[in-house]
Amino acid sequence: MPKPKLFIPGPVDISPATFEAMCASMIGHRGADFEALYASIQPGLQQIAGTQRRIFLSTSSAWGVMEGAIRNLVQKKVLNLCCGAFSDKWFDVSLRCGKEAEKIQVEWGEAIDPATVRAKLAEGGFDTVTMVHNETSTGVMNPLAEIAAVVKEFDGVLLVVDSVSSFSAVPIPCDELGIDVLLAGVQKAMALPPGLSIFVTSEAALTRAETTPDRGYYFDFLEFAKNDAKDNTPSTPALALLHALKQMVDSIMTEGLEARYARHEENNDLVHAWVEANGFAHFAPAGYRSRTLTTIANNRELEVAGFVKAVREKHNFLINGGYGKIKGKTFRISNMGNETAETMHELLAALDDVLPGFVS
Ligand SMILES: *Cc1c(COP(=O)(O)O)cnc(C)c1O
Repeated sequence: MPKPKLFIPGPVDISPATFEAMCASMIGHRGADFEALYASIQPGLQQIAGTQRRIFLSTSSAWGVMEGAIRNLVQKKVLNLCCGAFSDKWFDVSLRCGKEAEKIQVEWGEAIDPATVRAKLAEGGFDTVTMVHNETSTGVMNPLAEIAAVVKEFDGVLLVVDSVSSFSAVPIPCDELGIDVLLAGVQKAMALPPGLSIFVTSEAALTRAETTPDRGYYFDFLEFAKNDAKDNTPSTPALALLHALKQMVDSIMTEGLEARYARHEENNDLVHAWVEANGFAHFAPAGYRSRTLTTIANNRELEVAGFVKAVREKHNFLINGGYGKIKGKTFRISNMGNETAETMHELLAALDDVLPGFVS
């Protein structure tokens, strides 16, 4: 079978221009060519992240930096905001790092309520909060600005935000919101191959790290800061991915951020219209729905695995049949990255073609 076009929420399809960029020759990473490449990526990434601060580049998937944030920042106790597969796992990772941790857990499909965060932090003892902005498993986009404002009410509490599946697709004004660590892997909303993460740290986060023991080496934020001052990374970076990142940042700047946000919104609206026209329900509540993917509740009781397989076999498009404990109870369609109205219409036409064989 030929490789299907991906409409799963990560990894997503890579453009031919990105592939081409990855074929650039290797360069020594301790030298002027590399420093120029590193420096050239900064302004665009800073604009995307809504920050004046430097963007650190980690050769790892997002979990590297997610675990790193725990190891660098948590001295007393972390509060993990849990609402789906990725955010739930962050609580587990905190414990595995030997940290004291508590969680706020909501049902999958619900968003985090800022009022419960305020009530929990008011109990005292916390110095760090983790949240996933766009919970890719459930299709919930959490109220980031409201939660960030609540965390700011508490002195000495740092906010870590995972924006893996929202970074560059919706505005995230990092500095304005006072986010202490904003991180993203690049294989989702950034439409690059996996293996690289980008992150921003506040001054407060770096100051905290200075007195946190056992930060390790590979994800030590202070190592990133020290090397960044020389336009460099602590260890040998994934150079091919950095060439791809440079191409993608340039391409995003050419498209324009506002146009990129609008394109994601419009393409997401097309999927929403399909959901509603076909008698399906959204898994996420109104007001908290992701703009980069759609998690569809299987209220029509499709045999989801068979449906996904038929879409692939007949049309060569791959959608996702639900994540973890909501596999089969939901299915997911991504519109993140390079998708256009045309590619979304092609997918939805394929779904229209296959659906009648799966509903009575
Ligand atoms: C995919 C994803 C991750 C995990 O990324 P890895 O690349 O597997 O480390 C974390 N958070 C969110 C929201 C994701 O969608």
